[in-house]
Amino acid sequence: MESIQIKAYAKINLGLDVLRRRSDGYHEVRMLMQTVRLFDKLTINMTQTTGITIRSNLSYLPCDENNLIYRAATLFFKETGKHCGIHITLDKHIPVAAGLAGGSSDAAATLAALNELCRTGLSLKELQTLGVRLGADVPYCLLQGAALSTGIGECLMPLPAPPPAYCLIVKPPVSVSTKYVYEHLNLNTAPHPDIDALLTALQSGSLPDLCAHLGNTLESVTIPLHPEIAAIKDKMKQAGALGALMSGSGPSVFGLFSDRQAAERSFYHFKIGEYGKQTYLTGFWNR
Ligand code: ATP
Repeated sequence: MESIQIKAYAKINLGLDVLRRRSDGYHEVRMLMQTVRLFDKLTINMTQTTGITIRSNLSYLPCDENNLIYRAATLFFKETGKHCGIHITLDKHIPVAAGLAGGSSDAAATLAALNELCRTGLSLKELQTLGVRLGADVPYCLLQGAALSTGIGECLMPLPAPPPAYCLIVKPPVSVSTKYVYEHLNLNTAPHPDIDALLTALQSGSLPDLCAHLGNTLESVTIPLHPEIAAIKDKMKQAGALGALMSGSGPSVFGLFSDRQAAERSFYHFKIGEYGKQTYLTGFWNR
């Protein structure tokens, strides 16, 4: 095999609770993760010379060791002892720094693709052990689907797929630093979502129940900084979303609809407005 193509999917957090700050500075979390059908495309070609080169459709993304794809490939070659040259073409569609784990998903896809391309036969567990060294969300991005994520995000329990829904994602054009959000989180005053209730709702297969328990502790930091997030949530609910929430540390907002027409109407409303460039109508994705 000389080349491989792979999709790197975005994730949303149906629930995100932060339990405590550990002495090493990391935060212990309890999150209900779900993959959505919004993806980057990666094409990896073997080259004659050694080394890693990356070309992306987004000029502002780094193509050197600051790109998670580069770091994932470097780690893979170091740990497997394989030393081939590769050129990676990244066709980026997941909004960057959006709370949708785009970079982590690219890193996960790189590890999975190189495992096939180089016929190294690493198990999912072995890839995840490599992946967590690149970022806490990488092991989940290798697993995909619905999962409960605990620890710093690396302990994963696969869950049944939620009932189908139309998922509207809107990313306002503001930058949010994940580090800043965690540093300014007050665990005593921030609301904590009921993750157990969310898990029960997931098992029941009821979309309205699931939507009734959506919650994200990090909204308590990001929304006061960027009130437009709350306004987008309200607009989605007024348009018929059964629930709406910020994903990760933000600023992306997703709304879940059972009614296709309502979802499409809301999609077009945002698409022609100020957030139109980064508005997507998609759905849950499970293997
Ligand atoms: P998370 O939800 O895991 O916090 P995110 O969606 O908020 O992630 P990313 O899109 O992963 O954020 O990007 C975070 C930073 O990582 C950006 O500042 C970007 O420059 C850098 N980065 C490095 N490699 C990539 C990549 N392949 N895709 C996107 N961003 C990347």
